[in-house]
Amino acid sequence: MMQDYEVVVGIEVHVELATESKVFCGCRTAFGAEPNTQTCPVCLGMPGALPVLNRRALEYAIRTALALNCSIADRTKFDRKNYFYPDLPKGYQISQYDLPIGSNGYIYVDVEGEAKRIRIKRVHLEEETAKLMHAGDDIISATHSLLDFNRAGIPLVEIVSEADMRSADEARAYLSKLRSILLAMGVSDCKMEEGSMRCEANISVMPRGSKEFGTLVELKNIASFRAVHRAIQYEAARQIEVVSSGGAVARETRHWDDARGETAFMRGKEEAHDYRYFPDPDLGPIVIEKPWVDRIGDEMPELPDAKGERYMREWDLPKYDASQIADSRDLSEFFEKTCAIVGDGREVAKWILGEVLASLNATGIELSESKLTPELLAELIELVQTGKISGKIAKSVFEEVFNEGKRPGDIVRNRGLLQISDVGELVSIVEKVIDANPGPVADYHAGKTRALGFLVGQVMKETRGRANPQETNRILKEELDRRA
Ligand SMILES: [Zn+2]
Repeated sequence: MMQDYEVVVGIEVHVELATESKVFCGCRTAFGAEPNTQTCPVCLGMPGALPVLNRRALEYAIRTALALNCSIADRTKFDRKNYFYPDLPKGYQISQYDLPIGSNGYIYVDVEGEAKRIRIKRVHLEEETAKLMHAGDDIISATHSLLDFNRAGIPLVEIVSEADMRSADEARAYLSKLRSILLAMGVSDCKMEEGSMRCEANISVMPRGSKEFGTLVELKNIASFRAVHRAIQYEAARQIEVVSSGGAVARETRHWDDARGETAFMRGKEEAHDYRYFPDPDLGPIVIEKPWVDRIGDEMPELPDAKGERYMREWDLPKYDASQIADSRDLSEFFEKTCAIVGDGREVAKWILGEVLASLNATGIELSESKLTPELLAELIELVQTGKISGKIAKSVFEEVFNEGKRPGDIVRNRGLLQISDVGELVSIVEKVIDANPGPVADYHAGKTRALGFLVGQVMKETRGRANPQETNRILKEELDRRA
């Protein structure tokens, strides 16, 4: 049944811009300050207070739009979006209606190894609302509500995609790519758990092969990447169930309940808002000068896609590895710093995508929270490259370096893990092993080459893994042949 239908998803993302001050006043924007300490008459919506546009916020919005390959408007303006809600003291939100800063963009998203183009309809700048907190377990049983205006007036960009996604996987991949682009641009910290990145999804279903989209349902209250995936899957299945049993999907807004793992009716179409947009008379029209846009474009940090291509060129990394590193700001910074010391990108990438990622997943921390530094990883790699320790030993000391920040050289010396490459020392160990294992030696001489592996293993056991494997192999063969 599921396979007879196609899911159509469009996504709207709100991202708080990481400017020092708010979009229309000089108040600070730091997260976590005491409630209502970062406010003034403008962001509190006092009558007569006049907004003044923060040029940096406009610059960040333009940078965002450019990074998403949008065309930048040469003229724009701000509009009042009128609605009543306690988090909005003026009775309207300053937003952009018919002249968004950016439009007709796109990004490429990895879908099962293929780059799929997802179109961006528009990018516009608006102000954040106040934060409303309900005292009590939920909105129904709350006895009163509290308002924190520190958040009100933080610059917000809204990024609206076209309905180009066809599954929950694609939606998650889109969000993840979007996030990596915004992080690379330095325009937002994109923390879904702190609310600086939020998303809403529009979902409909249609019979496979159809060109006509089904009735669209809007999903709200999606607070994590995992929730996006679950919510879309749930909602798509619900709609398919309705349609395939002869019913009709209602045009409505639904609320994702993460604890229950289901969507619930929130409001219907008849309650849809008429925001009565009109140009804000307090803020004049804005001319965005081309030379300024060009300069913002020239000074823009490198985009993840370009960075991945550069890694493929410079270090000959496979495409998948390159983009895995390039899509993460933390990993790519770490990668480049480590490469600058050891000059072997393939080896560094192997460590980052292997041991480093595994340890991050196991501990659930960010790379910046670990004790590992590019210098320490570089030292570890150099110990292997100079033959002082084997790759296996390197992996065995990695955890200690990662968790405790100890220098690999010190660990190796203190634990006596230095590789034995000295021929004289290896020869005497090999002789001892040969004398102690007449059976396998006879097997080897009888043509059973597999016995060699056993003998190498015995040498490793004798040296606690410290024997240089290539040398051991060579010497062992030589000694055996000599005795044949
Ligand atoms: Zn203010």
